[in-house]
Amino acid sequence: MMNIEYCSIGDVDKIGASAHYLQLGRYGVLLDTGLDPHNDNPEGVPDYEQIAHRNVHAILISHAHLDHIGSLPVALRYFNRARVYMTPSTADLTEVMLAHALEVQRKKALENWESYQPLYTPEFLEMIRYLFQTFPYEEPFPLHGYEESGIRFTFYDAGHILGSAGILIEFQGKRIFYTGNVRTSAQFILRGARFPDGVDVLITEATYGSDAEAERTKRSQEIDRFARRLSEHIRLGGVILLPVFALGRTQEMLMLIHRLRQRGKIPAVPIFVAGMGLRINRLYDRMLHKIYPQYDRGLLRTITFGRWSRGQRLQGPAILISTSGMLMPNSPSFAFASQLARDARNAIFMVGYADPETPGGLLRAQKREELARLFNVKSLECNVELFRFSAHSHRGELLKMIRRLSPETVIVTHGEPEALQWMASAVQNAMPGTTVVIPRKGQWYTLATLPAAPNAS
Ligand SMILES: [Zn+2]
Ligand SMILES: [Zn+2]
Repeated sequence: MMNIEYCSIGDVDKIGASAHYLQLGRYGVLLDTGLDPHNDNPEGVPDYEQIAHRNVHAILISHAHLDHIGSLPVALRYFNRARVYMTPSTADLTEVMLAHALEVQRKKALENWESYQPLYTPEFLEMIRYLFQTFPYEEPFPLHGYEESGIRFTFYDAGHILGSAGILIEFQGKRIFYTGNVRTSAQFILRGARFPDGVDVLITEATYGSDAEAERTKRSQEIDRFARRLSEHIRLGGVILLPVFALGRTQEMLMLIHRLRQRGKIPAVPIFVAGMGLRINRLYDRMLHKIYPQYDRGLLRTITFGRWSRGQRLQGPAILISTSGMLMPNSPSFAFASQLARDARNAIFMVGYADPETPGGLLRAQKREELARLFNVKSLECNVELFRFSAHSHRGELLKMIRRLSPETVIVTHGEPEALQWMASAVQNAMPGTTVVIPRKGQWYTLATLPAAPNAS
């Protein structure tokens, strides 16, 4: 007998370290090598020990957010003979993101007078990037060196960020699809995700599984409301801060604001980008037109007014796009927010996901008193607004995707517990014959039992 087995060695019930292991007969495949964004200590790393005695022939990366790539160097120390597969854009972004993560870890340790124990060194990073093998969307490729396995992989555009991919794994007539992080409808730059025809097993994300509001929100109305509120604060002469992820949200919001300005929906106003987002903009400008031919090469560079660094006096009217998206202490967005907090002309617009435990989460929940304490002001005078422009599908879209792929088994991951629960029951109700699993970290699941290969006995 030959089995297909699955084990999540990373976090399942939070947006933490994503890492899924698949045993395909005697071949082993690791999907993503994430790091918990709130915990860059060893506990934030997936449990590679759990599979250390097994084979990992290939590591496939869905996209370059840290919760999917942050521990890649650690994984490669465990499995130093694994092939590493990703899309060309993800390879470029991974290099930049990992180098930056290392810098952030180092600074944090220095500022807190902690001993500095990096997960990897710059030299190791330099070395592993030569291992990355890249394939474009919808071009199948084999497990190199083990072609006799018959394993085939294909990347599909996941519509989440530049280079993001869903991963199809074909083995012995079984089709397994891992969504990575997915957005089925278009954003402002990226088009919506594409998918293979039906699959047998689906490993899906469920980030917005418990967010009923996201499902109800009409995008055009949200854009209008955003333009209106932006215009009000621009006319008041305020600074509008958008705390965002450097990778994805920064570029998508720049494009939205650019279009609103072009169409006269908001007054002309300088747009600044601070932090890591600028570096990622350059990669978008360089790579995007190769995937989307209609995209102007170098467009993002022409939209921004310049750089705004920490400590510089904030002078309105202006729009300021800055990392981190969750306003982690010590980040530029946290410093900017503290400066803007005491003036009602200013505003903080939350336009993406933020963990409830972070300052960004407090802003999303409008906990104004706690925030005033955090920003060290008497009271929070600036306006705080929430907009829903996600890089993830809402739960209705996810459900539609799952029905279209019509898998026999659905594995639900990458969401808070309520989100996973909602998705699991919704799938079960919509597709009664389907096996739905919310995996426990470290537990093994047999996905299929296959007849033994003829030459195996
Ligand atoms: Zn992501
Ligand atoms: Zn993620």
